[in-house]
Amino acid sequence: MSRYLSDTLRGLRPYTPGEQPRRRNYVKLNTNESPYPPPTAVVRAVEAEARNLQLYPDPECRELRKAAAAYYGLEPGQVMAGNGSDENLFFALRAFCDETRPLAHADVTYGCYAVWCGLLHIPEHIIPLEEDFTLDPLRYHGLNETIVIANPNAPTGLALPPEDIGQIAAANPDSVVIVDEAYVDFGTRSCVSMVRQYDNLLVVQTCSKSRQMAGARLGVAMGSKGLIADLEQVRNSLNPYNVNRMTQAAGIAALQCGGYFRETCRQVMETRGWAAAALARRGFVLTNSRANFLFARCERMPAAQLYAALRRRGVLVRYFDAPRTADWLRITVGTREQMEALFAALDAILKEG
Ligand SMILES: *Cc1c(COP(=O)(O)O)cnc(C)c1O
Repeated sequence: MSRYLSDTLRGLRPYTPGEQPRRRNYVKLNTNESPYPPPTAVVRAVEAEARNLQLYPDPECRELRKAAAAYYGLEPGQVMAGNGSDENLFFALRAFCDETRPLAHADVTYGCYAVWCGLLHIPEHIIPLEEDFTLDPLRYHGLNETIVIANPNAPTGLALPPEDIGQIAAANPDSVVIVDEAYVDFGTRSCVSMVRQYDNLLVVQTCSKSRQMAGARLGVAMGSKGLIADLEQVRNSLNPYNVNRMTQAAGIAALQCGGYFRETCRQVMETRGWAAAALARRGFVLTNSRANFLFARCERMPAAQLYAALRRRGVLVRYFDAPRTADWLRITVGTREQMEALFAALDAILKEG
């Protein structure tokens, strides 16, 4: 830190991303990426678009928004593309919160919400999850504050039915309700179609977790035309060329790879069920995760110790050193082979004691 950093930023604690090792031989189960490569059509689209890199990308992402709108049954004016969901969520917080308009969010949820509140001077209204990490929707009724809910939630993996989210939107008619659906493609129902019904509902999805494109940085925000116009206002005031040419081309191609998308999601869900049972057999306690990760507590060894021991054996998982999550590990669902490597490492560690 230099002496030039602004006083307001001195106290800010940034988000710590999961480790991205440069050595490739780790079994990487720490950042919820897809364990599968992108479909060939996406690779080809990126290669072809690279030839046009001397030109700026379309700042309005017209083709991509048209394709996404058709895919989700919306109009292009109800869709905005961003540099990952992170950017869309940040734009939403900038648009719908400020010093006097707080953000309500769960205590155990995606860590970036709190970090952005710090950066943007947004007061936080932190609503604790229940003892078993479930979210009681009634706690979100009549708040009169901007709300963000990750559904399924991270790192717990627990999901609410869209009807509960609809009731939250209805019970906060003068506030925006943001639903972060980063993990919705692994077997839960989306709230996207409800944006036609609730003009205060903003749904955010990403190509990072279920579409093999974490490295491309692409997310879409969907909501009423008014909400999307508000996001556009922020986007065009910061970085109108926020989605690069290759990523726009990749996104359009990815939306045409429905078969590959469904098959890879299915495989992740199948491996999730199998791996959850295998962990339970080893004495782990798990939440009912609907995402592409498992959230597991080990009764036989402190989670921090287990995390470190796995790392020494070349297996990366995620550990969150916070009061309610300190006993838990978040383990990305990889391929069957990756999960077998995890279990081999776990068995060796637990045997050593
Ligand atoms: C991964 C994740 C994001 C960020 O997604 P990107 O599109 O990669 O920026 C946002 N929210 C949640 C809950 C996530 O898990």
